[in-house]
Amino acid sequence: MKKLAFFDTKPYDRESFDRLNAGRYDIRYFETRLTAAALPLADGCDAACAFVNAEIDRAVVEGLVERGIRVLAMRCAGYNNVDFKAAYEKGLTVVRVPAYSPYAIAEHAAALLLALNRHIHRAAARTRDFNFSLAGLTGFDLHGKTAGVVGTGRIGRIFADICKGFGMKVLAYDAFPNPDSGLDYVALDRLLAESDVVSLHCPLMPETRHMVNAEALAKAKRGFTLINTSRGGLVDSEALLSALRDGTIGAAGLDVYEEESEWFYEDRSEEIRRNETLALLVSMPNVIVTSHQAFLTHEALANIAETTLANLDAFFSGAPLENEICYRCLGTGGAAKSDCHRRTNGRCMK
Ligand code: NAD
Repeated sequence: MKKLAFFDTKPYDRESFDRLNAGRYDIRYFETRLTAAALPLADGCDAACAFVNAEIDRAVVEGLVERGIRVLAMRCAGYNNVDFKAAYEKGLTVVRVPAYSPYAIAEHAAALLLALNRHIHRAAARTRDFNFSLAGLTGFDLHGKTAGVVGTGRIGRIFADICKGFGMKVLAYDAFPNPDSGLDYVALDRLLAESDVVSLHCPLMPETRHMVNAEALAKAKRGFTLINTSRGGLVDSEALLSALRDGTIGAAGLDVYEEESEWFYEDRSEEIRRNETLALLVSMPNVIVTSHQAFLTHEALANIAETTLANLDAFFSGAPLENEICYRCLGTGGAAKSDCHRRTNGRCMK
């Protein structure tokens, strides 16, 4: 039986993987993240499985390959945390779960928007304290307002549909616009200038890092609501703080944060030394931070386990790998490049 070193395990991961694995793999669950220091835990294993905040740098890639591990199964959609150049050079196949429930993420983005706009987080805190005052809780109708959707892939398109359901006008921006989406594509500057709500749904890549920075914010509609359920690095946190302070941004719903890997997913409430920017953000009445939880639905967890195990089955049986990501195919919007081996043998890696 193949052995799988499963890093960054949370109780909900174990439950969904154990239910679907049904004895297929010998899964060795570790609470620690996959880092260079944690590599010895993978000794004797045939595959490794990691999550969204692991730093899969060259040292980790080399350490896995030195241990005879030829496949890394990322149980997430985003892959900005993997050194694909190193993986390609060392012959480590990387597979992922491209879509486990785009509804989970889009609905969480909508939940953040509604909670912020109607001050639900503050209202709930007040009524718990038997304070039934409505002062300061005035929101606005979403109906008739404009939503700007940045990135119109699986999640962005569902979020756009949800906004349309509210009676909002939707503007879209994408580096690879989808002509069949029926969306009204505009330049990013126009989207920022006209949108009351901007929701980010594009991947984090060198060209999208800090796409929401001081320069972009200077072009935005004053008082707009920013929702980020994609990746923290899309937003320059210092620029976000100043924009919240001066009213450029009216409210922010953040499921992700630039430096989240040091803080998210764990109880840090006892720690006195805190990330200052994050501490300021969570203290603001018009900001809601959730701990990268947009994916956390029963349906998404089951799909993550099912696709991850199917990716490993395909790898070990020599079948085509439809969820493989490789260095050469990055930046194509998901397609295999014309000279990629995936075109001929169904796998990027020879
Ligand atoms: P997707 O690949 O279906 O869509 C991404 C879209 O972004 C594509 O349409 C692509 O063309 C577009 N894009 C690429 N480069 C761009 C650029 N420079 N500018 C604008 N748009 C660009 O991905 P998806 O499944 O919709 O996921 C979107 C993002 O959501 C992921 O990259 C991931 O970071 C994030 N995500 C977050 C969670 C969470 O729990 N918070 C869970 C899953 C995914």
